[in-house]
Amino acid sequence: PSLHPGATPEPKSVVRSPLPSPPTSPASAPGKEEYNCSYCDIAFRDIVMYTMHMGYHGYQDPFQCNMCGQQTTDKVAFFLHIARSSHS
Ligand SMILES: [Zn+2]
Ligand SMILES: [Zn+2]
Repeated sequence: PSLHPGATPEPKSVVRSPLPSPPTSPASAPGKEEYNCSYCDIAFRDIVMYTMHMGYHGYQDPFQCNMCGQQTTDKVAFFLHIARSSHS
């Protein structure tokens, strides 16, 4: 009695991916860091947006608008202020 049938199975039927993907983890792509405003708990994916946002926070009071001096009560009011007002 023969133990081997003679035909060795080869991994030929494995279809390779048509798109050559680099062997990097898809979860951690470079340049996808988030910048978080500790005052508002808002994450920015763009450092320019983050820098602009942080520019609105007052130095003395973080919820006082640095552009126009408007005093807000909390982070929600502050965010609404800078979202609605154009300080350009
Ligand atoms: Zn903020
Ligand atoms: Zn303002």
